[in-house]
Amino acid sequence: MNFQLTEEHLMIQQAARDFAQNELLPGVIDRDTHEKFPAEQIKKMGELGFMGMMVDPKYGGAGLDTISYVLAMEEISKVDASASVCMSVNNSLVCWGLEKFGTEEQKQKYLVPLAKGEIIGAFCLSEPEAGSDATSQKTTAIDMGDYYLLNGTKNWITNGSSASVYLVMAQTHPEKGHRGINCLIVERGMEGFVIGKKEEKMGIRGSDTHSLMFTDVKVPKENRIGEDGFGFKFAMKTLSGGRIGIAAQALGIASGAYELALKYSKERKAFGKEIYKHQAIAFKLADMATEIEAARLMTLRAAWLKDQGLPFDKESAMAKLFASEVAMKTTIEAVQIHGGYGYVKEFHVERLMRDAKITQIYEGTSEIQRIVISRAILDQQ
Ligand SMILES: Cc1cc2nc3c(=O)[nH]c(=O)nc-3n(C[C@H](O)[C@H](O)[C@H](O)COP(=O)(O)OP(=O)(O)OC[C@H]3O[C@@H](n4cnc5c(N)ncnc54)[C@H](O)[C@@H]3O)c2cc1C
Repeated sequence: MNFQLTEEHLMIQQAARDFAQNELLPGVIDRDTHEKFPAEQIKKMGELGFMGMMVDPKYGGAGLDTISYVLAMEEISKVDASASVCMSVNNSLVCWGLEKFGTEEQKQKYLVPLAKGEIIGAFCLSEPEAGSDATSQKTTAIDMGDYYLLNGTKNWITNGSSASVYLVMAQTHPEKGHRGINCLIVERGMEGFVIGKKEEKMGIRGSDTHSLMFTDVKVPKENRIGEDGFGFKFAMKTLSGGRIGIAAQALGIASGAYELALKYSKERKAFGKEIYKHQAIAFKLADMATEIEAARLMTLRAAWLKDQGLPFDKESAMAKLFASEVAMKTTIEAVQIHGGYGYVKEFHVERLMRDAKITQIYEGTSEIQRIVISRAILDQQ
């Protein structure tokens, strides 16, 4: 076993930390308050290679490993989880899926600009009546020979209005159940594709979450990813890797809140001494530090397994489940340590607490992660 990060890992971690502190921190409260998408910052993240971190350089990516991606995600998420969810969807759902399963033409046309961060991607699985039960897709893709005719509605789509490329799951053969689902690459601006309302959210308010409507959209056959009926498998495989990204996001939200609470506990005095000198506060900090360390190790191990080409579905589900629960618990305690100041925007921890909640919901709720884990340990695949 080797717990040592390489020189390259440390450089990437430092670059992400510097970017988060210098470029994301200054406007983060304003973007959260006014639900502003961090467009300029995402563009810069693309220029720095953060939007296609694991993609082969021959397709415009940074050619790094999943461990580097986790380290960068943690640093970005410490400061701005709205920016990090955009980064996570682009890296682990859109770019990874296209690189792994796309054709050479699809890679040249879509992956290259996505990996360079010139454009942003979205991953469209959820529907009004298909969330955890993603098999019950109502969106249809009827095979018309040269093209698919796409009809339906998608819900909760991250990067909904800022993306240029959308990976859309849709049912082609209802009689085959989930084996009849396809994944189609849909371009923004295709006739019949309308971006619907923006959701007003509790947290990650800088992220643009939209519903999408498709009415008789003609999607060329060459935009299908994989064989006919591969769409559901495609979605499950990409989400399994995606969970490492969300685990890293949760880890970052937790460690960001912990660092703020630690600092504050050394500044704030009550009853004649700094509050960390009260054992109740010191013990809260000890629990936070311990649980964050456990979440970090689980997330890095899932990333390492993925990099080794070993199975990682169970480990990524465990990391996401654990890290997201640590994020929720830690941010609540960080607010508590700040007292009344924790309840106002200026001190950041209230935002981190609101942002933490989504990590228990998207890319599979905590209940769904427990289903994935229990199936794996009980060998009920
Ligand atoms: C801000 C945000 C961004 C999102 N981004 C995207 C995106 O980019 N792309 C995308 O496709 N989707 C996205 N989603 C959708 C997200 O993945 C779903 O909301 C999530 O999978 C849960 O689905 P649901 O909301 O329909 O809840 P439901 O599936 O209706 O679940 C409701 C409750 O029932 C529980 N439950 C359901 N089934 C079971 C079961 N079998 N056993 C035990 N408990 C169960 C759930 O855990 C949950 O607590 C996003 C959601 C949000 C809020």
